[in-house]
Amino acid sequence: MTAQLNPRGDVAVLVPAAGAGVRLGPGRPKALRLLGGDPLLVHTVRRVAAAPSVRFIVVAAPQADLSAVRELLDPVAPVIVVAGGATRQESVSVALDAVPEGPEIILVHDAARALTPPSLVESVAAAVRAGRGAVIPVLPVVDTVKEVSGEVVLRTVDRSALRIVQTPQGFRRPVLAAAHAAASDPLTDDAGLVEKQGVRVDWVPGSELAMKITRPFDLALAEYLLTGSSPGTIA
Ligand code: C5P
Repeated sequence: MTAQLNPRGDVAVLVPAAGAGVRLGPGRPKALRLLGGDPLLVHTVRRVAAAPSVRFIVVAAPQADLSAVRELLDPVAPVIVVAGGATRQESVSVALDAVPEGPEIILVHDAARALTPPSLVESVAAAVRAGRGAVIPVLPVVDTVKEVSGEVVLRTVDRSALRIVQTPQGFRRPVLAAAHAAASDPLTDDAGLVEKQGVRVDWVPGSELAMKITRPFDLALAEYLLTGSSPGTIA
């Protein structure tokens, strides 16, 4: 029997978690760094599993940590664990291939977005269910944005039409499969591949809690949000 959550759910969530996390500094692969005493990946999977529409979760883990990740997630939720690839895109492709028959809605969600609320998983899935081919959560850009070249500022970009893109990104299954089958150069998100296919991508409001934990500051902030205290001090 394949590991599944709600058998009536129509959503499979792919969690690419095979990155090294170089920008977090030396240490374990990013998904296994601790946040409030648990690995990031445990937080991420726990929140995804709490979304009632989710039937399957497929985690792409670092090759060297496959059995450790299986053991880690066993008490958290029924999860399919596969070995990730050299790029995020490859990890998503491998995870997509491992999704059992059934769900027609596929979400792709970074392991690094450990505090993402289950309600965001549901709102992206709901937009796809309502008929969209591809849906991404976004936030407005709050800072002024400039384009630079070397040390020189070239111009100020109109931020009003710009958005920060998060995950989970949601797709009708054939839309994501076709985008990955046609992919050549690796991109940093899956909606980018779909855009290249000329398929319309829609957006829903994102969540500040879905921030990507990338740098040491992000981890300290997440720790503070989760536990009310942070290992770092702010001078
Ligand atoms: O490197 P970046 O922060 O963009 O990674 C986003 C997500 O993709 C992370 O959850 C990371 O673990 C995952 N990833 C992966 N396989 C890779 C590289 C990154 O699953 N080869």
